[in-house]
Amino acid sequence: MLAKPGLPSFDYVQASTPDEAAGLLKEHGPSARLLMGGTDLFARMRDGFIQPQVVVDVKRLPGIQDVVYHERTGLTIGAAVTMNQVARHAAVQTHYPLLAEAANSVASYQLRNRATIGGNLCNASPAADTAPAVLVLAGRMVLHGPNGAREVPANEFFLGPGKTAMQAGELMTAIRLPAPPPGSAGKYLKLGRNVKGDLAIVGVAVFAFPDQTTPAGYCFRLALASVAPVPLRALEAEEFLAAHPPDEKTFALAADKAMAAAAPIDDVRASAAYRQAMVRALTLRGLRIVWAQLRRQA
Ligand SMILES: Cc1cc2nc3c(=O)[nH]c(=O)nc-3n(C[C@H](O)[C@H](O)[C@H](O)COP(=O)(O)OP(=O)(O)OC[C@H]3O[C@@H](n4cnc5c(N)ncnc54)[C@H](O)[C@@H]3O)c2cc1C
Repeated sequence: MLAKPGLPSFDYVQASTPDEAAGLLKEHGPSARLLMGGTDLFARMRDGFIQPQVVVDVKRLPGIQDVVYHERTGLTIGAAVTMNQVARHAAVQTHYPLLAEAANSVASYQLRNRATIGGNLCNASPAADTAPAVLVLAGRMVLHGPNGAREVPANEFFLGPGKTAMQAGELMTAIRLPAPPPGSAGKYLKLGRNVKGDLAIVGVAVFAFPDQTTPAGYCFRLALASVAPVPLRALEAEEFLAAHPPDEKTFALAADKAMAAAAPIDDVRASAAYRQAMVRALTLRGLRIVWAQLRRQA
C-alpha cells in the first residue's frame, strides 16, 4: 500500500502517572491509543488501519525509561526503554546477551532510537524480534490498570496478531527477567530479506543452561518469531532436548520438532514452506552455537 501523506487529526495527551494513563484509557475506551516511540502506531494511523481520537503518550511515566539489574532478582526494563538502549546497556550485554542481539536486530539504528521494547511487545506482531528473547528468558510483563499492577508471564501474553492478555484500561510499564541461571548461554538468529532493516522472515531464540534435574543435564528453551499467529515456544523440541544427550543427532531431531511447531503463512516476505525449512536450519544453527558456548563455559 502506498503511504498516504500525514496523519488523521487526534488529541495528544501526555500522562504523568500510570493511574492517569489507565484513567484516560477507561474514559475514552477504544478511541484512545497509547503511544511510546510511535513507529508502529503512527504507521497504522497513517495507513488508515486505526483512527484514535486520543493518543496517550506514556513514555514519560516515572521509571518507564529505567533499566535496573540486581544479581539475585534479575532485570527490570521499563517499557519505554528504546531498542538501542536495551542493546547497549551493560547489564543486558553481560547477563542477557541474547536480548541485546534481538533488540539490535530491529530495523535501522535511527528506528531503534525511537522504537521501544514495550511497544514491540504490546504491538504483538508475530514478527516482533524481542518476543522470542523475552519468551526463552522466562520474562514477565508488568501491567498497570484500573485495579492496580499485575504481572503476566510472557508465554501467556501473546494471544494473536495484535492481541495480548492486556485487559481494557491496562498498559505495560515494564518487563521483568529473572536472573540468568549459572552457566547459561543464548543466541538470537534472524533471517530477513536483507541483513538489517526488515521484519523477520524467521526469528529463532535459543537459551540453555546446565540443569541436573533433566536426563540431558541441560535445560534448553527455544522460541520462534514470524512463523505462527503469535511468537511461541517450541515446547516439544524443548522436552526432547531435555530427555536426550546433547549431540548432533539430538539437535537435528529437535530442529525437526521446532519446524513442526511452526504454522507459517505465505506472505510478501517468504513462502510458508521456506519459512518452515528456515526454522529447522536456524534452530539447528542456534543449538550448535549455544552448545559450543556451554562447553566453553563448563
Ligand atoms: C521501517 C520499520 C521497520 C521495522 N522493523 C522491525 C524489525 O525489524 N523488528 C521488529 O520487531 N519490529 C520492527 N518494526 C516495528 C516497530 O518498530 C517495533 O515494533 C517497535 O518496537 C514498536 O515500538 P514503539 O515504541 O514505536 O511502539 P508504538 O508505535 O508507540 O506502540 C506500538 C503499539 O503498542 C501500544 N502501546 C504503546 N505503549 C504501550 C504501553 N505502555 N502499554 C500497552 N500498549 C502500548 C500502542 O498503542 C501500539 O498499538 C519496524 C517498524 C518500521 C516502521
